[in-house]
Amino acid sequence: MAQVFSSIPSTVGVLIDFDALGGIDLDRLERSLDLRAERVGQGRYRVFGGSSEHWVDLHDGTHPRCDCGDHLWREQICKHILAALLREGDERVVRALAALAGKWRALAPSATRKQAA
Ligand SMILES: [Zn+2]
Repeated sequence: MAQVFSSIPSTVGVLIDFDALGGIDLDRLERSLDLRAERVGQGRYRVFGGSSEHWVDLHDGTHPRCDCGDHLWREQICKHILAALLREGDERVVRALAALAGKWRALAPSATRKQAA
């Protein structure tokens, strides 16, 4: 049995096909870090802290839902959904944070690195 790791129960069992939705956009992920997500039910979040408040439902079939234009019109995983997934501890989104940290390191001025040394 090589299924040991897949048997670890997910907190909510979100089944989002990130690949089909274009993957996790790092710019959106970065903006999602400024948002607050308040859990209001199983897989349901009130996301605020941005220009307006939005409602996210992670349990609508295999697709997450948000009432913002970015998600409804562009059919993207928006920053609100990412903020909710981060609160859920979604492994793929947490892993994407590592890629984001790498981007920040690459952008950091070399002077900062010299001071740190
Ligand atoms: Zn949204």
